[in-house]
Amino acid sequence: NIVLSGIYKEFTSGRETHLAVDGLNLDVANGEFISLVGPSGCGKSTTLRMIAGLESPDRGRIFVDGRDVTAVPPQSRGLSMVFQNYAIFPHMTVRQNIGYGLKIAGMARADQEKRVREVARLVDIENLLDRYPRQLSGGQRQRVAVARAFARNPDIILLDEPLSNLDAKLRDQTRAELKQLHQRVGHTMIYVTHDQLEALTLSDRIAIMNKGVLQQFAAPSVVFQQPANLFVATFIGSPT
Ligand code: ATP
Ligand code: MG
Repeated sequence: NIVLSGIYKEFTSGRETHLAVDGLNLDVANGEFISLVGPSGCGKSTTLRMIAGLESPDRGRIFVDGRDVTAVPPQSRGLSMVFQNYAIFPHMTVRQNIGYGLKIAGMARADQEKRVREVARLVDIENLLDRYPRQLSGGQRQRVAVARAFARNPDIILLDEPLSNLDAKLRDQTRAELKQLHQRVGHTMIYVTHDQLEALTLSDRIAIMNKGVLQQFAAPSVVFQQPANLFVATFIGSPT
């Protein structure tokens, strides 16, 4: 499981200090699919980046399966992340992008190729392996980023608004694929979105944040039927 215990994160720019994450406690079970939702600037990406190890909390600890990973570098945390702006390497083909982590990990070439094909098939980009990112649509690039995250078969996958650049149809389709993928493989997934509907349909539990503070962390039906406060009721109830 993943445990966040008393996490604080402050940013200073100029003379102003801003508390981005304010005393966050969260406990995610192995194999669980949780969504992190809330308005823009509420601290979702910062939280994900701290779990990934790309940002350190000012206070608090992060545990993975009981191990304190607060000071462990990102590559040793057994997880992978799809970024909000899906950074993929522009000078590498789709095949090289997906296989990047496998190569770094020293996997044999033939095995790399096999694994790349496998994950490319999962997100339906098998026919694009020889292309470069500039030759892809935004949605296809996003799928490459998702495929790359799955390639090393990490225990934990962190997704920061992975569908935000897709049109409605492709978003529905990719969302359904993600759900299937999770059901099949059973990774622990932490999924950031500001689309309430997406969170409600995908997740086992939803964590709702506002201004760096966790408002409620519960199953979709509970959040919907027994919102913890007015903010949650308004946020979940309002159409996107
Ligand atoms: P969005 O939905 O727009 O992606 P978010 O919930 O992911 O928003 P964060 O990116 O976590 O929000 O940012 C939380 C707060 O911290 C914001 O007020 C943001 O301006 C601030 N912040 C984030 N990163 C930095 C940084 N590197 N330096 C200064 N402030 C930052
Ligand atoms: Mg964000």
